[in-house]
Amino acid sequence: MHYWEMPEHARVLGNRTIELFRQYDIVPTPTNYELWFGYAAAQNAELVRELDKAVAEKKLTDVSYMQDLHGRFFGSGQGSAMDEMGASLQAEVQKFAKVLEGAGQDTATYGKTLNVAASQLGRGDVNQFKVVIEGLVAATRAMEVKHKDLETELKTSSKEMSVLRGRMESVRKESLLDSLTGLANRRCFDERVNEAVREVGAEGGDLCILIGDVDHFKKFNDTWGHATGDQVLRLVAQCFKGNTKGRDTAARYGGEEFVVVLPQTSIDNAITVAEQIRHAVETKKIVKRSTGETLGSITLSLGVARYAPGEPIADTINRADACLYAAKRAGRNRVMSEWTIDATEQKSAS
Ligand code: GH3
Ligand code: MG
Ligand code: MG
Repeated sequence: MHYWEMPEHARVLGNRTIELFRQYDIVPTPTNYELWFGYAAAQNAELVRELDKAVAEKKLTDVSYMQDLHGRFFGSGQGSAMDEMGASLQAEVQKFAKVLEGAGQDTATYGKTLNVAASQLGRGDVNQFKVVIEGLVAATRAMEVKHKDLETELKTSSKEMSVLRGRMESVRKESLLDSLTGLANRRCFDERVNEAVREVGAEGGDLCILIGDVDHFKKFNDTWGHATGDQVLRLVAQCFKGNTKGRDTAARYGGEEFVVVLPQTSIDNAITVAEQIRHAVETKKIVKRSTGETLGSITLSLGVARYAPGEPIADTINRADACLYAAKRAGRNRVMSEWTIDATEQKSAS
């Protein structure tokens, strides 16, 4: 059961969390919020016990203690994976710097040896000649060995760094994906839409936004259960993925809502894409995986809007959303754009 399914309960817990902040004078950080929301929900007896203990032992202001508790109960998460990698990278760089510093010192010592040799040779003492040359050969050999060691160490370090760089890149990519559907998440959508707006500013052209929302999804969940509902969301995500390409970004906007950024796309073409997605969803047969039972089909309503250069992108998104709701009012399983919305609404009003 998710809290978005019981907003009233979530609100009560949220208020209780704030009360606890006041009661114990807790700093309202996101970490503390998650911990104390969990305390208010009282679903994890161990968490409640630990926080009671933290109160009794006056540990609430001990940041690392509280962060450890958070890590224990809410997983390490991407943030701390990044922290860990950041620390490893820092350690590698420090190692690198030390190796270079050592090499610098070795070179300076070698330089001194050469200077001493030069002055000894300058004195023209023939007897000393052999001794000086032998000394020089030995120092040069030692330097050679040191350089080999240095080369090996640098190679190892740079290999480790490139492994870390690869891991950081994959964590970054993961942080832009929706875990349920594998589609881009809202954060990724925000990034892409901002890029697209900048592009319109610099180069002109059309930019469209499309929003889709599953019809009567609450009823579907209530009838078939949440797990089957999740399976449907994955299926809908596939329809979005299968009908968008190139520079389009389809993302899960939240719950059962999906969005697509369509850079360099006219409103006519955006409507066509929306129609294709709508059709793909409508024609998918829903089969309950656990039993093989056919559950019929589901439908999607969509709204499409074109970005008017210079306006805040939130206005475009709001217009696409208004079109989506007009599509719902007009009977669902349809696409509505800012071009069609007025005519349809006027017709239904008269
Ligand atoms: P409408 O046609 O007007 O959109 O009706 P609706 O029932 O789809 O809309 P409403 O906003 O009332 O309900 C949305 C439902 O979507 C509520 C919740 O049960 C479901 N939902 C949202 N996110 C998820 C999710 O991640 N998984 C599942 N299974 N259901 C979700
Ligand atoms: Mg919705
Ligand atoms: Mg819906």
